[in-house]
Amino acid sequence: MTRTGGCKCGTVRYTIRLEPVTTRLCWCRDCQYWAAGNAAVNIVVPRAALTVEGVPSAWDSVADSGSHMRRSFCGTCGTQLFSEARENAEHMVVRVGTLDDAGGIRPESVIWTASAPPWALIDPALKAFPGQPT
Ligand SMILES: [Zn+2]
Ligand SMILES: [Zn+2]
Repeated sequence: MTRTGGCKCGTVRYTIRLEPVTTRLCWCRDCQYWAAGNAAVNIVVPRAALTVEGVPSAWDSVADSGSHMRRSFCGTCGTQLFSEARENAEHMVVRVGTLDDAGGIRPESVIWTASAPPWALIDPALKAFPGQPT
């Protein structure tokens, strides 16, 4: 199924032409910044399945996992859109909140639970990983 999405102001739009490889919640400290305090909900998609229109801004950093990350966001409205690791050329991570319709998304796992705050609601039905799953 084809999914579409974009940032809040419409400067950046995207299309995903394949099903996600996985869907997960991430409680890493970085995602808590991007998700305004909660876990980020992300789909991992094959890079070749993602087409982007418009040019997002980007910020490069080294994640808690040690991966060299590039995080892309709209330079106009600030919406967090994508992240990618230099060490993983095959996949892109897409922020589920930017999908036009996230209703068909079903999270499979929750990662980086060790850095979640004590009040975090972690669904016991999901596979949980204290850090980055291998
Ligand atoms: Zn925008
Ligand atoms: Zn994260």
